Amino acid sequence: MGMDRFTRAANIDGKQFATELLERIKSDVEVLKIETGVVPGLAVVLVGDDPASAVYVASKHRQTIAAGMKSFEYRLAAETTQDELLALLDRLNADPEVHGILVQLPLPAHLDPNAVVQAINPDKDVDGFHVLNAGCLATGNPALVPCTPLGCMMLLKDTLGENLSGLHAVIVGKSNIVGKPMAQMLMNAHCTVTVVHSQTRNPAELCRAADILVVAAGRPGLVRGDWIKPGAVVVDVGINRIEGDGKSTIIGDVAYGEAGHARAITPVPGGVGPMTIACLLSNTLTAFRRRHTLAAAA
Ligand code: NAD
Repeated sequence: MGMDRFTRAANIDGKQFATELLERIKSDVEVLKIETGVVPGLAVVLVGDDPASAVYVASKHRQTIAAGMKSFEYRLAAETTQDELLALLDRLNADPEVHGILVQLPLPAHLDPNAVVQAINPDKDVDGFHVLNAGCLATGNPALVPCTPLGCMMLLKDTLGENLSGLHAVIVGKSNIVGKPMAQMLMNAHCTVTVVHSQTRNPAELCRAADILVVAAGRPGLVRGDWIKPGAVVVDVGINRIEGDGKSTIIGDVAYGEAGHARAITPVPGGVGPMTIACLLSNTLTAFRRRHTLAAAA
């Protein structure tokens, strides 16, 4: 047995975890279909023709179908007006076949993303971006929560066990989509939480104190080996496309090759990335269950 067996960080295989989660979702959908006679449905709205967004939307559609759910896809022209988009959301909010609604961001510049997100019925807000869902998470009663930090939480619990109480979690990044909800989920799990961002004076020193280090800055290789405490669990959310030598590569925000002394780390790609769509479908199932349980209780 070589020493490196003890010094090499374990890989957190998000791809495998996501595949298993999708299998569980698929069998839950089958059971719910029999129990309720209804199939969970997810509506995805794409405005304009941003190529990266089109790829995401196509992938969401494929996986929604693969999970046995109904997928409603709306591809609207780039010049769609705010009123037209809000009218579509009104229809989807009222449609009993639709349990989850997602508007793919970013939107074309003439549309107000905040007004659009707030127009989604919070009970169908599977991205968890509505202020009501953000407020529920912030006050410790989560309903629908953002998909990427939800996926990170699942990977952390799979690695460390359900009980994260008392661990020091450091999060790099404070966006509404990743950093902020991640901090709240970890606080709800009774971690001590530090948030590092672009104005933080001593990021390396703070990161070195982390038992759990979640990095979502969008800065390739920002977190170096000496920012990581030996034995820490590192979750790298960053997705950075690097062009060079005539090819493009995806790398994370953590210098992966320098993280051998971590206990475990998510690779990029194949770590957090595959979890996001799986969590979107998990949220659609949560929205479905909440609707049917509430209806049954009424
Ligand atoms: P964002 O640009 O909205 O926020 C970045 C955050 O990082 C900000 O709070 C900023 O203060 C902080 N930051 C920037 N530079 C920093 C520095 N030098 N030191 C410390 N903090 C710094 O980004 P986001 O939407 O939160 O996404 C972050 C990264 O995660 C991106 O690479 C994005 O592509 C990726 N991402 C991946 C998934 C996924 O895996 N499915 C989902 C969402 C985002």
